Amino acid sequence: MASLIHCPHCGMRPKEEFTIRGAVPDNRPVWGTPIDDPQWFDSVYMRANPRGRLREHWYHGAGCGRWLIVERDNLSHAVHDVADAQTRALAGDRT
Ligand SMILES: [Zn+2]
Repeated sequence: MASLIHCPHCGMRPKEEFTIRGAVPDNRPVWGTPIDDPQWFDSVYMRANPRGRLREHWYHGAGCGRWLIVERDNLSHAVHDVADAQTRALAGDRT
């Protein structure tokens, strides 16, 4: 895993300052959209567990206290992008 992460608020920081929540789900339903129980079950419990490039939610607990979306490769551990999760959500990216 990359030893340094570029937080958009704090700059380059050691990875030990962050907590990884997990992959950003691609199948999450839009809030307020009526869906049935099997669809909710799939969106909450069914995980693809891909290898390669993926996006994850990271929390910068020892820094700014913000949730980030980190795009990284779980094979090479290269970090490709780091963005503030709230900024992405307000821009219309609901993942
Ligand atoms: Zn930070």
